[in-house]
Amino acid sequence: MNAFLIFGPPGSGKGTVGAKLAAVTGVKHLSTGDIFRGLSPASESGKLFASYAGAGKLVPDEVTIQIFSRYVNGLVDTNKFDPEKDYFLLDGIPRTVAQADLIKSVVNVKHVFVLDVPDDSVIVERLLRRAKIEGRKDDADESVIRARLKEYETKTAAVLSAYDSSLITKINGNQSPNAALRDTLGAYLMVND
Ligand code: ADP
Repeated sequence: MNAFLIFGPPGSGKGTVGAKLAAVTGVKHLSTGDIFRGLSPASESGKLFASYAGAGKLVPDEVTIQIFSRYVNGLVDTNKFDPEKDYFLLDGIPRTVAQADLIKSVVNVKHVFVLDVPDDSVIVERLLRRAKIEGRKDDADESVIRARLKEYETKTAAVLSAYDSSLITKINGNQSPNAALRDTLGAYLMVND
């Protein structure tokens, strides 16, 4: 399967930019956070997700890949994604080096967009604001936000070194959503000429 990846710390705008980029280009935006939040809270995997996400921790790799694969296979089986011609925009996966290794044999990475927001206080402020609008519990608590940032810095940032630097474009995430979208779309068009 062909895929673009969108990376960035929590609150960097991955979801917003990803959804808009998908709407403009036709790539299929897939957010693992959205997939996890869609699990039934009563199910085993739903409970597992709640226990990790509630603490700002990443869900263990094996379970993550299992849920992700099941979801992707469902899209293929129901004709919502055609691996012969469609492209994914993966938002939120891979988030560890182990996940990158596990998906390597099935996901062909075309390009990686990285939304960069260097100042943690900007992120904390954005997420606390988002908590009031979207009601996500993991956005409402500053210590959970800090834990998520730590997971990103210690586990996810390292994933980028798995990809050739020619595959990576850094986008300034410290600007308005439309400006970040414009830059991401520009980078997408450059690699997809
Ligand atoms: P954000 O990037 O704002 O932290 P997401 O919506 O991408 O939020 O993810 C929410 C939560 O879902 C994460 O804190 C984590 O617990 C879980 N999660 C999402 N994607 C993954 C993944 N690839 N591996 C492990 N856990 C994940």
